[in-house]
Amino acid sequence: MTVSSEELEKAAETLRAGGLVAVPTETVYGLGADAENPAALARVFQAKGRPPTHPLIVHIGESDHLDRWVREVPETARLLAAAFWPGPLTLVLRRCARVPLAATGGLETVAIRMPDHPVALALLAEFGGGIAAPSANRFGSVSPTTAEHVRAELGAAVDVVLDGGPCTVGVESTIVDLSGDAPRLLRPGGVTREELETVLGQAVPDGASDGVRVPGQHPSHYAPAAKVVLVDAEQVVAEAELADKQGHRVGVLLPASQTGMPVTAHTVITVPATDADYARGLYGFLREFDRQGCDLVIACLPPREGLGLAIANRLGRAAGPRPGA
Ligand code: AMP
Ligand code: MG
Repeated sequence: MTVSSEELEKAAETLRAGGLVAVPTETVYGLGADAENPAALARVFQAKGRPPTHPLIVHIGESDHLDRWVREVPETARLLAAAFWPGPLTLVLRRCARVPLAATGGLETVAIRMPDHPVALALLAEFGGGIAAPSANRFGSVSPTTAEHVRAELGAAVDVVLDGGPCTVGVESTIVDLSGDAPRLLRPGGVTREELETVLGQAVPDGASDGVRVPGQHPSHYAPAAKVVLVDAEQVVAEAELADKQGHRVGVLLPASQTGMPVTAHTVITVPATDADYARGLYGFLREFDRQGCDLVIACLPPREGLGLAIANRLGRAAGPRPGA
């Protein structure tokens, strides 16, 4: 463990006092507040510049605590929690009265997850309550996967930053809506659709159940400052060279399948061989292109299977239309 017991006690005390604590998890770093303190939750939205209609995820320290936050726990939720918690899976269920509407963006459902990180679990045990946390970045930008990313982006807006090392999963949790008649995949993430379907013994299609509003589905999200352009794998090298000729400072996310190297690109990052390594590195790569001053990033999408679905989802949003663009 990378965090001392004094730091943990101070962080728990900060949460009790309504303060903000950046918490390492296996997915990304979260910006945590006491899930039952509406004033603290308001500070989370303010620090992120996030619209208050975007709900947060309530993090719990033990699977058994799920009952405390939701009206009922359907069999599907018990099965998924038993199979994947602690882990990168968030369950959306009907909220009970102790969950403030400030945590749910005004919705009657609440998103709950038990993270798989020793520091997050130690803080949850020390604090005792639930910690509501979105990713610890400014709204719309790339999620932080190191404590340094959090400090650089949110700085003084956070009272305590716990450094738990680099995140091992690297993309956000999978979100499954279990509040309707049938399970739905709201966001692909660290647990794959295939794994969910194996445990549930049924299909988990995309989208919300009838009548459920899905927040946080903006086309542009997880975006670096540089413009991201997606092309076919075979076109990456040629497009990068063309953009360079046009005067761009080009970053390239070079697929492992492409042996040619764009000689003129400013920054070339080769995509790791496994999806797990790709997911772990993805946000760091996007930040690196910004650090190198690239104004354009050329990339292609991996096949939408396994973790590739989550990577393709994040790259697609990074390339999405920007507000005012
Ligand atoms: P973040 O991981 O920072 O994107 O924040 C949590 C995400 O969880 C939000 O963007 C929402 O998409 C999702 N979420 C949280 N609560 C709910 C809910 N009750 N229904 C649907 N999605 C939710
Ligand atoms: Mg986020």
